[in-house]
Amino acid sequence: ETEDERTAQASQLFENFVQASTCKGTLQAFSILCRQLELDPLDYSNFYSSLKAAVSSWKVKALWTKLDKRAQQKVYNQNKACKGTRCLIIGGGPCGLRTAIELSLLGCKVVVIEKRDTFSRNNVLHLWPYTIHDLRGLGAKKFYGKFCAGSIDHISIRQLQLMLLKVSLILGVEIHVNVEFAKLVEPPEEQPDNSPGWRAEVRPSCHPVSDFEFDVVIGADGRRNTLDGFRRKEFRGKLAIAITANFVNRNTTAEAKVEEISGVAFIFNQKFFLDLKEETGIDLENIVYYKDNTHYFVMTAKKQSLLDKGVILNDYIETERLLSADNVNQEALLSYAREAADFGTNYQLPSLDYAINHYGQPDVAMFDFTSMYASENAALIREKHGHQLLVALVGDSLLEPFWPMGTGCARGFLAAFDAAWMVKGWAQGKSPLEILAERESIYRLLPQTTTENISKNFEQYTIDPATRYPNLNSSCVRPHQVRHLFINGRQDSGHIEKGGLPRRSINLSRRESEVRPGRLLTWCQKQTQGYRGVCVTNLTSSWRNGLALCALIHCQRPELIDYDTLNEEDVAGNNQLAFDMAEREFSIQPVTTGKEMAAEAEPDKLLMVLYLSKFYEAFRNSPG
Ligand code: FAD
Repeated sequence: ETEDERTAQASQLFENFVQASTCKGTLQAFSILCRQLELDPLDYSNFYSSLKAAVSSWKVKALWTKLDKRAQQKVYNQNKACKGTRCLIIGGGPCGLRTAIELSLLGCKVVVIEKRDTFSRNNVLHLWPYTIHDLRGLGAKKFYGKFCAGSIDHISIRQLQLMLLKVSLILGVEIHVNVEFAKLVEPPEEQPDNSPGWRAEVRPSCHPVSDFEFDVVIGADGRRNTLDGFRRKEFRGKLAIAITANFVNRNTTAEAKVEEISGVAFIFNQKFFLDLKEETGIDLENIVYYKDNTHYFVMTAKKQSLLDKGVILNDYIETERLLSADNVNQEALLSYAREAADFGTNYQLPSLDYAINHYGQPDVAMFDFTSMYASENAALIREKHGHQLLVALVGDSLLEPFWPMGTGCARGFLAAFDAAWMVKGWAQGKSPLEILAERESIYRLLPQTTTENISKNFEQYTIDPATRYPNLNSSCVRPHQVRHLFINGRQDSGHIEKGGLPRRSINLSRRESEVRPGRLLTWCQKQTQGYRGVCVTNLTSSWRNGLALCALIHCQRPELIDYDTLNEEDVAGNNQLAFDMAEREFSIQPVTTGKEMAAEAEPDKLLMVLYLSKFYEAFRNSPG
């Protein structure tokens, strides 16, 4: 075997890995690659450089250049910033894998466990400009040639997972599929000096990964996260029923011509929705269409039209019952989504044949977004018998996205970077309370991030939050405010059980911070009472003309707004004034603009609840 032949063989094996189109196929191609080239994937700190040395054809050089550029960022300290730190990541979704990549660049030993062995979600994620830039930097185009070509700013969840899986493997991340996290196992009591540290109980229980001891665990297991100690905040909005549908894309010229419906434009096109309703009886609040591997549609439908069209059989108050399988006519749902898709694309898509989902069924689904969840805290630290464990959430586990807006992956990646930054601080020996306070300070920014208010200088982005959030105040939460997140068993050892802490033993329940809309309304009424032109009776239309918002600010800080000069008719102006003041003076990020408020009949309840709760949080302890 000549040198050339060896190079060609290595190149071919690597190409098979790069081109693999399934999760299992990727793992298999990777293991063949390692075996043939005699590379040890468990030698994580040398793996990437060994692989580079073994696969050196011109074709892969461009990929190495990209990954080297990333790896050379100063924050990683040449792959040594977190040397010796062992991390377990629960979940191989986009955010778990994205976190894995950062942690391995920092020099951590990273193990990912994923309960499934297929990446089967056709649904499409909207990418913000920074996420596109980020993924390009990881070689996205090399793994998926069609990545964000032209003006395309989206990707199917499965393609995204696939490319992140490949990058993770290249960087020495250890990945186990078909392994489900069950719970944390505390270090045993005997001999604190050499006793084993924190471990995980997994299913299947005999899996070797249950022997892995780790210092950091990241919950990236999606919206129903399994880690204890994270109280979920609920944001209850108006009833929101989302439907996703995927149709086969045959990539014909006719299909290529059809225009996408982007996630931003929909709110303004009232005529479209009126026409749709008149022609088909379908009543939607919004619709998004992305042409990707499939023709992907996501829409929010009004309940009455779902009832009228026989999609939902009986009307129930509780959404869970309303949308339960036995109350939904699947055939009618298929027709409903197809009809909406057909109308939305002006009947230009030649054949709307459903793509097939994970279960072998036509890929349509209906979800309830009436309540969205966010975790109250982003991290905590547990200490037991001399072993500390840093526990953090990322992705949907931390902050659930509203799919029609498609913010999931963009905010999810920001949280992945923030979590990696925290792990770095931890490895540098910062104190637990300092780390937690910083993490919670940064987390406060996450729900408000938009494409507009994060730094535009993507080239400078690193895991350091200061490179991404322009108005960062990493000490707005003080160490004494996060004491309850450092759980060392002293303050409430009586409640601690072996193998994980029951929720109740942790004092996370600052009751006052759970703002229910009812309480929020009462509070707002009290604050704005007696102001000219203000009568708050709800969390939507009462706020439209902007006077109530101005009053809310005025009653706290009268010097900021000259209330008497405000004109009730100037809806855009009043709202913009309030948004600007709130942002400048109280760091409350706006959720919309004055112009948009003026353009809409009434503000969206979910957005208003989100926005007004920020005032509640900010003002409730002040005398005003
Ligand atoms: P996820 O992508 O949910 O990944 C979590 C991973 O953890 C999964 O692979 C899961 O199998 C694994 N897991 C769960 N529990 C365990 C456990 N105990 N042990 C080990 N592994 C575990 N967003 C949109 O914007 N538009 C959409 O149309 C859309 N459709 C979606 C459809 C579905 C069915 C789902 C689940 C999510 C959808 N999302 C959608 C949300 C979007 O996928 C996420 O915002 C994005 O993928 C980032 O999420 P993540 O990595 O945090 O979690």
